[in-house]
Amino acid sequence: MHQLTLAEIARGLAEKKFSSEELTKTLLARIAQLDPQINSFITLTEDLAIEQAKAADARRANGESGALLGAPIAHKDLFCTLGVRTSCASKMLDNFKAPYDATVVSKLAEAGAVSLGKTNLDEFAMGSANESSYYGAVKNPWNLEHVPGGSSGGSAAAVAARLLPAATGTDTGGSIRQPAALTNLTGLKPTYGRVSRWGMIAYASSLDQGGPLARTAEDCAILLQGMAGFDPKDSTSIDEPVPDFSADLNASLKGLRIGVPAEFFSEGLDPRIAELVHNSIKELEKLGAVIKTISLPNMQHAIPAYYVIAPAEASSNLSRFDGVRFGHRCEDPKDLTDLYKRSRAEGFGPEVQRRILVGAYALSAGYYDAYYLQAQKIRRLIKNDFVAAFNEVDIILGPTTPNPAWKIGAKNSDPVSAYLEDVYTITANLAGLPGLSMPAGFVDGLPVGVQLLAPYFQEGRLLNVAHQYQLNTDWHTRSPAGF
Ligand code: GLN
Repeated sequence: MHQLTLAEIARGLAEKKFSSEELTKTLLARIAQLDPQINSFITLTEDLAIEQAKAADARRANGESGALLGAPIAHKDLFCTLGVRTSCASKMLDNFKAPYDATVVSKLAEAGAVSLGKTNLDEFAMGSANESSYYGAVKNPWNLEHVPGGSSGGSAAAVAARLLPAATGTDTGGSIRQPAALTNLTGLKPTYGRVSRWGMIAYASSLDQGGPLARTAEDCAILLQGMAGFDPKDSTSIDEPVPDFSADLNASLKGLRIGVPAEFFSEGLDPRIAELVHNSIKELEKLGAVIKTISLPNMQHAIPAYYVIAPAEASSNLSRFDGVRFGHRCEDPKDLTDLYKRSRAEGFGPEVQRRILVGAYALSAGYYDAYYLQAQKIRRLIKNDFVAAFNEVDIILGPTTPNPAWKIGAKNSDPVSAYLEDVYTITANLAGLPGLSMPAGFVDGLPVGVQLLAPYFQEGRLLNVAHQYQLNTDWHTRSPAGF
C-alpha cells in the first residue's frame, strides 16, 4: 500500500479497495519502523491522523468524493498546527504549540487530507541540506550518508522513502525543488502569492512560498489544488482564479517552445548532470517541443542578491523571537538586555545567527544603500530578464542543482559552498515565478533533477510538461533500496 501515489490512493478509496483508516495505520506503522533511519519527522500526530482518517471514511460513506479525501500527507514543521508543536526545527520554538492552523493546513484538512505529523527541516528553513535542525540531520533514503537537500528535507525524505505519498514544503530559494531533485521527487514552487503564507512561519516574506512535494506531477497537481487560493488573511495573496491543475496534464507538447539558458550550463555544473539534462531535452523534443537557447544575463548576480535580501528579511522576521513575545527564555536573566541576548543566543543555532547578523548588517544605516538597495535593483533586473525570455519561449528548462546530494557534514566548514548549490533555483524566487523539479536520472546512484520554470500563474503548464515527460520516462518510479 505504501507504494501508491495520491492518484492511486484516490482511486483505491473511491473503489473501496481499502479505507483511509487502514491506509493511515499502515503508513504510521511503516514510519515507526523506518523513520529512525532517516529522521524525517519531528512530531507524529497518530491520534489526530486516525481521527481524521475515520472522519474521511465517514464522509466518503455519505457520498462525498475528492482526490484528497482520506489521503495521508504531512506538513513541514513551519506550518502552524492548532495545539500541535510547530518548531521550525529550532530550540527557540521547541515548546511552541500554535494557537491556530495555517491556511494551508486548514484548507487541506477541509479537503479531507489526513495529516500524519510534522516533518523535519533546516532551522527556520535556512539551508540546503537539512543539517541545521535542532532535532538532528535528515538522511537521504538513497544513501544514508548523504543529505536529502533542504530546507524541506524531512518532507522530501519521507515521501522518497515511501512513508507517505506527498507532503507540503516551502521554497524561499529552492527548498522544495532542491530536495525534490536530491531525493528523486517532483516538487513545485508556485507563483508568489498563489498559496497563502498565513500561519507559515516567515523566513523571507517576499520570497517564501508553500507548495507540494510528491512522486509525480499528477500528485503535485492534486496537492497543489488543495493548497492554492486567495486568502484575505495574507496581504500578499493574489486574488486570481485557481484553475483545475489536473485539467491540462494530458495536453500535447507539440510546438511547445522550451528555452534553455546558456548561463545554466556554465562552470560549476557537474558534467554528468549536464548530460542528464540534455537527455531530458531530447525526450521533450521527441514529444514535439522546440528547443531554443536563451540568455538570462543577470543570473550571475542572483546568489549575492539573494543572500542579502533573504537574511535582511529574516533578521526582521526573527526579531519577534525574543524570549518575551515568542520563544525560548533563558534562566535567571539579570535584566532585560541579558534576557534578550541569552534567550536568542541559546535558542537559535549557528546558521540562523549567521543570517540574522548578515541581515541586520545589510539593513543598518550606511550599509542599506550599498547592499540592500543594490540587491533589490538586481532583483528587478533578474525579473526583467525572465519577462524578456518569456516573450520568446513558453517554458525555461535547466538543471535544478549543480551537484547531486553531498555527504552529511561535507560543507559544514564552508557555508558559502552550500549557498552556491542554490544557483539555479533562487532566480525563480527573486522573480516570483513558478518552478518545478522532476526526476531525470542518477549520478553514482544519487538522483538528479531537471527544473522547469514558467510565466506567472502557469503552474498548470509546468505540471503538463512534467506529466508528459513522466508518461515517457520511468525515473520517477524508482525507489531507494531498503524502502
Ligand atoms: N538554501 C536557501 C537558503 O538557505 C533556500 C532555503 C529555502 O528555500 N527555504 O536560504
